[in-house]
Amino acid sequence: MTENKIPYKIYLTEDEMPRQWYNLRADMVNKPAPLLNPGTLQPMTAAELEGVFCAELVRQELDNDTPFFDIPQEIRDFYKMYRPAPLVRAYCLEEKLQTPAKIYYKFEGNNTSGSHKLNSAIAQAYYAKEQGLKGVTTETGAGQWGTALSMACGYLGLDCKVFMVKCSYEQKPFRREVMRVHGASVTPSPSEETQVGRKILAEFPGTTGSLGCAISEAVEVAVSTPGYRYVLGSVLNQVLLHQSIIGLESKIALDKYGVKPDIIIGCAGGGSNLGGLIAPFMGEKLRGEADYRFIAVEPASCPSFTRGEYRYDFCDTGMVCPLAKMYTLGSSFIPSADHAGGLRFHGMSSILSQLYADGYLEAQAVRQTDVFAAAEEFARVEGILPAPESSHAILAAMNEAKKCKETGEEKTILFGLTGTGYFDLVAYEKFHNGEMTNNIPTDAEIAASLAKLPKVD
Ligand SMILES: *Cc1c(COP(=O)(O)O)cnc(C)c1O
Repeated sequence: MTENKIPYKIYLTEDEMPRQWYNLRADMVNKPAPLLNPGTLQPMTAAELEGVFCAELVRQELDNDTPFFDIPQEIRDFYKMYRPAPLVRAYCLEEKLQTPAKIYYKFEGNNTSGSHKLNSAIAQAYYAKEQGLKGVTTETGAGQWGTALSMACGYLGLDCKVFMVKCSYEQKPFRREVMRVHGASVTPSPSEETQVGRKILAEFPGTTGSLGCAISEAVEVAVSTPGYRYVLGSVLNQVLLHQSIIGLESKIALDKYGVKPDIIIGCAGGGSNLGGLIAPFMGEKLRGEADYRFIAVEPASCPSFTRGEYRYDFCDTGMVCPLAKMYTLGSSFIPSADHAGGLRFHGMSSILSQLYADGYLEAQAVRQTDVFAAAEEFARVEGILPAPESSHAILAAMNEAKKCKETGEEKTILFGLTGTGYFDLVAYEKFHNGEMTNNIPTDAEIAASLAKLPKVD
C-alpha cells in the first residue's frame, strides 16, 4: 500500500475491535516482583488482597501467565460509546516540523472524562458490580481518574467516593463538578474524615496533599466500610491489562496499512497508558518477533525512572498499602506544588519497572515549560488541546522527529495522546503569563525521601 493512501484518521469497525485484553506479563521472562504484605514481607495472597480489591481484579492482578483475558460483553458495549479511539497520522505536525519522520498518535481524549482512564474505570466498576458490592472508593490527582470512575459508577449505579488531592480540588473546581454530575462524592485530601488524613494533617499542617496520601485515605474508607472496595487508576498490573486496549487497537490499525513503528513513546505517571500502548509491541519484542524502541517520558519534577531507585516501597504516604517493587522516589516524596503537568506519583508500575531494569524501555525526564511549549505547537497544527500529561509524549515525539530532520531518516513514530487539557487552562494561563517555573528536586531531597524506604531487600 503506498503511503499517501494512509488517511488522517484510521478507525476500526466494531467488528475489528479487540475482544480480549493482552497480559504482557505472560511474555516476560523476568516477571514483575510480587506485592508484599508490609507486616510479614511475604507475597500478598489472594485472600489478603480481596479485603481491599474486588475478587476478579485480584485474580487479574496475580496472574502472570494467562496471555489473554476476555473482555466481558457489557464492557465491550460500554467501550463502543467512545471507542475505537482514532489513530491519527499527524500530517500537519510533520509538515510544520518539516521532518521526514512519519508521526502517528493514538488519541484517547474522546470521552467526557477526557483521558484513557475510562478504559480501566469501566472494567473495575463492572467487576465490583458483578460481585454485588455497594460502592468503591478511590483517589484522584489531576482529576481524570476520579471523573472516569464517576462516569463508570454512574452508568452502572454504583456508589463512588473520591478523595481528591487538595491542590487539584482547589485548582480544578470544574472537574469536581463533573464528578458530582455523575453522582460521586468528592472530598479534598488530606481530610479530617480518616485516621490517616488526620495524622498527615497534624504532621504537615497546610499540606496541599499528594496522590500517595489520597490513596491512604481511600483505602482506609474501603476496608472499614462494609460492601465497599478500593479501586486504583494506574500502577497496578490489572490496570495495565485493561489499558492494553490502547495498544491492541493501535496495532490492528497500523497492521491494516502495513505500518510498523520504529519508536513508541508514552508519558509515564504510574505507567498505565504507556504500559497499555506498548503492550502488544513489547510482547513481540519479548518473543523476539520484532524490535521497537520504547520511550517513557516523565516530568523532571517527579522523575521516578530517571532518578529513583528500583526498590520495594509503599504505594501510599500513609504506608497502609502493600509494598510494590518499582522505580520510586520514596512514598514520602511530594512533588513541588507548582508542578502543573500531572504524572505526580512517586513510583512506577512494577511491570514497566522490571522491563526498564532489563533494558527493554528507555526513559527521559523533561521540564514542564518545554512540555507546555510543545503542547501549544501541537494544538496549533493538530487542532487538539492536549492534556499536560500527554504533552510530555508530544515533546519527546517532536524531539525524535527533529532528529530525523537532521539525519534524513524516515522513522515511524507512534505516541500516546492520552487526553485533552480543557481542565488544565489555569496551568496554560501560568505558562502564557510567564509564571510557570521548573522546580526540580535536588539530589539531597530525593536522597532524604529514599532514606525512608522500608528495608526489604
Ligand atoms: C492519568 C493520566 C496520565 C498518567 O497516568 P498513567 O497511569 O501513567 O498513564 C497521562 N495522561 C492523562 C491524560 C491522564 O489522565
